[in-house]
Amino acid sequence: MRPDILNPLFAEVRAMKGVGPGLAKPLERLGLERVKDVLYHFPANWTYRKAVSVLDVADVGSNIIVTVTVMDHRNSNNARAPLRIFVADVAGNYLTLTFFGRNGGWARKQLPVGEKRIISGKLERYGDELQMVHPDHVVPVDSDTSPGLAEPIYPLSDGLTNKRMGQLAGAALQDVPDLPEWIEPTLVAGRNWPNWAAAMGTVHRRDDQSVRDRLAYDELFSNQLAMRLIRAAMDKRTAVPVAGDGSLISLLKLPFALTGAQQRAIAEIEGDLAQSRPMLRLLQGDVGAGKTMVALMALLRAVESGMQAAMLAPTEILARQHYAGLQKLLAGMPVNIAILTGREKGSLREATLMGLADGSIHILVGTHAIFQEAVTYKSLAVAVIDEQHRFGVSQRLMLSRKGRGVPHLLVMTATPIPRSLALAAYGEMDSSILDELPPGRTPVETRVMSQDRLAELIDGVARHLAAGKQAFWVCPLVEESDKSDLAAAEQRAEMLRLRFGPQVALVHGRMRGAEKDAVMERFVAGETRLLVATTVIEVGVDVPNASLMVIEAADRFGLAQLHQLRGRVGRGSEKSVCILVRTTQIGETARARLALMRETNDGFRIAEEDLKLRGAGEMLGTRQSGDSPFRVATPEQVRELIGVAADDARLLLERDGGLDGPRGQAARVALYLFERDAGVATLRGG
Ligand code: ADP
Ligand code: MG
Repeated sequence: MRPDILNPLFAEVRAMKGVGPGLAKPLERLGLERVKDVLYHFPANWTYRKAVSVLDVADVGSNIIVTVTVMDHRNSNNARAPLRIFVADVAGNYLTLTFFGRNGGWARKQLPVGEKRIISGKLERYGDELQMVHPDHVVPVDSDTSPGLAEPIYPLSDGLTNKRMGQLAGAALQDVPDLPEWIEPTLVAGRNWPNWAAAMGTVHRRDDQSVRDRLAYDELFSNQLAMRLIRAAMDKRTAVPVAGDGSLISLLKLPFALTGAQQRAIAEIEGDLAQSRPMLRLLQGDVGAGKTMVALMALLRAVESGMQAAMLAPTEILARQHYAGLQKLLAGMPVNIAILTGREKGSLREATLMGLADGSIHILVGTHAIFQEAVTYKSLAVAVIDEQHRFGVSQRLMLSRKGRGVPHLLVMTATPIPRSLALAAYGEMDSSILDELPPGRTPVETRVMSQDRLAELIDGVARHLAAGKQAFWVCPLVEESDKSDLAAAEQRAEMLRLRFGPQVALVHGRMRGAEKDAVMERFVAGETRLLVATTVIEVGVDVPNASLMVIEAADRFGLAQLHQLRGRVGRGSEKSVCILVRTTQIGETARARLALMRETNDGFRIAEEDLKLRGAGEMLGTRQSGDSPFRVATPEQVRELIGVAADDARLLLERDGGLDGPRGQAARVALYLFERDAGVATLRGG
């Protein structure tokens, strides 16, 4: 249960005073649903003003605050002319306040002749006069809302003005509860951090990095604490030790030797599997590093020990590819492998479910369907999740609840994650890294080309296809919606068909599973040669004969995403080329990013740069999964503070008495505030 002290923060914004239906949409667009969302909607920028008593010391062009006396209103007969109000400072210097349109009526009321007012705004010169057009603030001298020297500028959406947003923040600040301190006291003292409520007040009043750090730290701390709690809960449960006698692995006929990195990872995994403490391990390895082979060893260990294993893929296509690949590798071996996705129906599905329940199926490959309620395993000992970045912590938790014992869990990702982020996203896991590609790979050559040269590019593709090779053509992300992406892809496919005829195929995210697979299968089989796609091909799909990749409007993709896409080629012995087509008008940063892609194939380096250039949430692929790890902390703050937060969370649990001690009670509040309460829930359940 959420601690009562948080109730005011979780109240709906709609219920705040003065929030009418007109604000509903703009607030929703910004994701501001509850009072706490408004509080955490920090200013993105600041307008600074100089307070002056006399106008002749103020610089024209600067923002000022000054107290003036209203001298005269100048009305014009021309209704379209602006209203001009003359005011004077204490020394008698004149200033003209100019109001256009309907603002005149308001101004007349606010600025009665003979009254004193504090005004703020940008000082300008108009002919010989000093002028201020539409002052930002006009308030009586005794008002308690005199304009601040620094005014916050908020991220806004249509229908929400900065002033209104400022008022909302002010209203939300009215009754912020005095939350207990959850941060380790020496850390608070060392960094000179204010308490939570004070920090919240300050962050909306002035630009203070240290205060923003404190508030970001809270989020990182909650994240790290939740990770540790999940880990602790897992550790309390037991898994069946999986030893394996090598009887199956010795039968494998691999056409190559494992890389040193693969051998290391396998040894680490086998070490975990032999324990009754459930394995919770992340396997990171760049595209093509050979993660599947490592996973296979873990799967076979389970089967050798007389138990079952499952492998979860994020998409239908990938599940089928893994299934086919494993079938080939396991041919002739006494291992029964099956596939289960949303598409297996009727008696086929029944048979698979039976086989899982009675243990006759040893390895199951599939999509999310493999962990649904109806699926019961006789003895699931090892679960592998491929391409982890599509799954969040909550899905990992769901997995851990499957079955009586906990299966050993191996999570694989091809998105190299910078260290700081790995801690944030997978802090509860141990990690193995495949930092070595199998030998004999020729690195993909990357070129950048302007959209202007499309005709030339298409000629190049023609030569490539004529040589009997295949190619991918990835279409631009037009907008955030599938619909417009699709239109663009369809159009491009249409155009390419005019030139290349029926060897052009189109695959996109809106296709039904069966349809999509059929298209992919024909491409893998070489029946079609040029595959036009939206980013559905991003993850995992392996077509060795495809050695050319064209990515349109590459400047609109994230670097990590480009790297993933590029990883689709360079899988065969053939030298591969990736052409990044850039839109014609691109800025310096975009140029630099594309240049980096040309320069390096190192996924970790690209990930680091991407983290600098984009939000952390985006990089982790959370746009797809919808649970962004951080709303408050910026990438720099994550880099700088996540390690501190990890230590702090550890101290709380190991030294300070966990969640039940006094600091622990406060930490519970933080977990609920950041909705990391899954951590608390596991503790209770475990
Ligand atoms: P990823 O890490 O991207 O999942 P895969 O497991 O799909 O990579 O492997 C990519 C390709 O490399 C596959 O065709 C696989 O058979 C091959 N491969 C894996 N390990 C080795 C190795 N040690 N030597 C040579 N080729 C390998
Ligand atoms: Mg893979």
